[in-house]
Amino acid sequence: MDVIDLRSDVKTLPSEGMLRAMCTAPLGDEQEREDPTVCELEERLQSLLGLERALFVPSATMANQIALLTQIRPGDEVLAHEHSHIFRYEAGGPAALAGAVLTGLAGSDGQFDGAAIRRVASVSESEHRPRTRLVSIENTHNTSGGRAWSLAGLDDVHDTCDELGLLVHLDGSRLFNAAVALDVPVARLSSRADSVAICFSKGLGAPAGAALVGTAEALADARRIRQRLGGSLRQAGMLAAAACYGLEHNIAQLAQDHAAALELATRLFEAGVAVDPIRTETNFVLLDLAELPFSREEILPMLAAAGVLWSKGHAPSVIRAVTHLDVSSGMIREAAERTSRVLGECARG
Ligand SMILES: *Cc1c(COP(=O)(O)O)cnc(C)c1O
Repeated sequence: MDVIDLRSDVKTLPSEGMLRAMCTAPLGDEQEREDPTVCELEERLQSLLGLERALFVPSATMANQIALLTQIRPGDEVLAHEHSHIFRYEAGGPAALAGAVLTGLAGSDGQFDGAAIRRVASVSESEHRPRTRLVSIENTHNTSGGRAWSLAGLDDVHDTCDELGLLVHLDGSRLFNAAVALDVPVARLSSRADSVAICFSKGLGAPAGAALVGTAEALADARRIRQRLGGSLRQAGMLAAAACYGLEHNIAQLAQDHAAALELATRLFEAGVAVDPIRTETNFVLLDLAELPFSREEILPMLAAAGVLWSKGHAPSVIRAVTHLDVSSGMIREAAERTSRVLGECARG
């Protein structure tokens, strides 16, 4: 029995075409800006996202951290959703590296509105308050189940930040998923941000690599900071080639990933499992085990024994499946079948 691994879209392996692109890419010393493939990737990203500069980095976590390091001073306040990656899953980087005071905002589906920013932002001249400097949004939002920001919600945050003089960072690790889900050009979601983190090793299928894209101002010091963090690579074109290949060949594939997630959610819903197909907007399916007489820690190994791997969701009773380009529709049907069988047995006790 083949195990179906739905733990994350970071599990994708480079395809044959991607490997060929990596092996034949022209290379040079990226620290000296001599790698033509990295230059090509950075130029493509600038025009794709409607921004002025781009910088290739090893990971989206590093892109997020560089965005803070270049745009805030120690003691400045950063606002982000309370369940955002930059806040919860980057090992305290914003505090440890940039010296940020991080304030979490509440809101459903990983979103918050301009009013929430206004309630907490301190843009007065008071010396007693940390200076609110930057708002970070995450699109799609990971822990809420890959939810895409509504265009109206996004515009509201940008309008508010413009009015208050706040910078906007976009953690767009899965920004292309959001663009595909909303059927808009990706620049519609990115061009108003000061800085954007993009990850190539998720749905785009590259083995590693990310980018920080943004205004000339936001990225003015970014190369120096990347060097300081040890993120400047030499013949990085091998990885940039994988990213270019992903941008060319795998963005269209995201719509299939979303359809596969919706099919999994729908099949499970029809089998009486506690998933909500309405909330499956992109490539995540969240399944709540709260009604079952077993814990998540007990159920995950049962699912694994039945040949389907789910991972832990953010909430304690939730498990998560993520579709990606290595998951076929046959695997989805089989995964739905194995999952509903195991959960049915659990429900019967
Ligand atoms: C995966 C992820 C990151 C970090 O990406 P890496 O490239 O693994 O460092 C950042 N933000 C969000 C929302 C993510 O899902």
